[in-house]
Amino acid sequence: LTGLPQHFQRLVDELARLPSIGGKSALRLAYHIISANPEQGQALAAAVEQAIANISFCSRCFFFAEAEQCVVCNNPSRDQRTLCVVEKPMDVLAVERMGEYRGLYHVLHGVWAPLRGISPDKLKLKELTQRIEQDQVLEVILATSSTVEGDATASYIARMLAQHGVSVSRLAQGMPKGGELEYADDLTLSRALSGRNRLSI
Ligand SMILES: [Zn+2]
Repeated sequence: LTGLPQHFQRLVDELARLPSIGGKSALRLAYHIISANPEQGQALAAAVEQAIANISFCSRCFFFAEAEQCVVCNNPSRDQRTLCVVEKPMDVLAVERMGEYRGLYHVLHGVWAPLRGISPDKLKLKELTQRIEQDQVLEVILATSSTVEGDATASYIARMLAQHGVSVSRLAQGMPKGGELEYADDLTLSRALSGRNRLSI
């Protein structure tokens, strides 16, 4: 863009780098930040800075954490022997929202996507097998999305865990095809979880 003051341009450029924010949205947001009351813009800047400084990922399950471990891993009433494997931290929130699942999580931080150059070694898989061995995990629920990549990732993990003596199940059908866990409604997710299928390799 031409004609924008330098600092305004910089704000627009930074906003435009965010996922699903195009140039026009970035411009609109920047205009809002500048023209809304200054306290609101400053609160936003402070929140971004504080979040980056204080939030990282749980050393055990890789969900968001403000300490070494996340609130789920730190809760002694959770079933330590059951792991729900998901793609993204946001998927943990989707499962937690149901309020039924009592086990722990393992966040992969991606899916196996050869066409996009994402190989299995980019995922938190080594950490998953380590946990299964160390924590004597009994059941692993594969809750990756019902997309081609999510299914491929689930199959890959199921094969990988075959010799680890752990029960492996996959979320039941009924999840919308191509559906990402993050966007599934609570009832669908609840049915998919309770009707999960044991995978035999
Ligand atoms: Zn955790």
